[in-house]
Amino acid sequence: MNADSAPLLETAGLTKHFRLGGYLSNRILHAVDDVDLAIGEQEIVALVGESGSGKSTIARLIARVYRPTGGEIYFRGRPLSAMRSRSEQLAYRGRVPMIFQDPYGSLSPVYRVSHGVLRALKLHRPALSKAARDEVAAQLFESVGLTPGSDFLDKYPYQLSGGQRQRVGFAQALASNTELILADEPVSMLDVSVRIGLLNLMATLRREMRVSFLYITHDIASARYVADRLIVMYAGHIAESGPTEDVLAHPKHPYTQLLLSAVPDPRAPISLPATSSVAEPPRVVDPGEGCRFRQRCPYAIEECALVTPRLRLLRPAHTAACHVATSDIGVPAKEQAATSR
Ligand code: SF4
Repeated sequence: MNADSAPLLETAGLTKHFRLGGYLSNRILHAVDDVDLAIGEQEIVALVGESGSGKSTIARLIARVYRPTGGEIYFRGRPLSAMRSRSEQLAYRGRVPMIFQDPYGSLSPVYRVSHGVLRALKLHRPALSKAARDEVAAQLFESVGLTPGSDFLDKYPYQLSGGQRQRVGFAQALASNTELILADEPVSMLDVSVRIGLLNLMATLRREMRVSFLYITHDIASARYVADRLIVMYAGHIAESGPTEDVLAHPKHPYTQLLLSAVPDPRAPISLPATSSVAEPPRVVDPGEGCRFRQRCPYAIEECALVTPRLRLLRPAHTAACHVATSDIGVPAKEQAATSR
């Protein structure tokens, strides 16, 4: 993101807790805690982490599926909590649509695949006539690689492959006045052979349709392929964040290092022992203070069990939340930690 331009969307202290076991229970699941992130115009930001890290919860908070427990989300500087009227909420949903993981479950088998696109056009562009909606829908299918677009207007989901169905999801997301697409694991259920085509599609849409993406994935390799910036999540916290190539070349957080060591390297000898990731899952129910990665961390020190690490700037535009990670910009770790608390 250009440091001089205002972000398209940002979160400040975004927090989501779920009460487990009903109102009488006082066990609290900390799905997302105190997350600050920003997405710029025409930027692809990848939110990376394992299951339960909070990345999909953040997408659902931004999509207004969930209400935050704390913090705020700003879209073009306006807090979402101030968008009270139905028309304003509808306009926001049109500008920030979501694409889901399952291309098979997200389309109803009884409707034509154009149904969702035409419905979105009717809702968000009511001035269009029926003929104009058909024409725009065909153009949208073309823009996501379903050609000729008019051929797809009358098709049913059973006539499309998984990759084509997911392209329909992209067309549907583009049918409103789209500015930011929340793409929740959009390629993880597809064959490896078609994933790359959809990642390329994201890059093309960013360039040609001038949209931004929040790309949610557990696959750091695909994030590397398509994203300008990476945000690595662990147990509801941001562990590390920065420009993609810088984070991958200089990973500062031990969890990012673990994720990178798990990416298969075809050139590595087959007998090379993999970095161990086997450990108890992070404690996210009433987690208390301390680093949530400490049970798995080979570098943990006494402070890690007592004090929750805050994000510190360790390289230009590159932050990590770790007590022992070293800075490459000349500020001692202890000094930064003291100022960030
Ligand atoms: Fe490991 Fe401590 Fe850093 Fe957490 S704060 S990642 S436990 S060294």
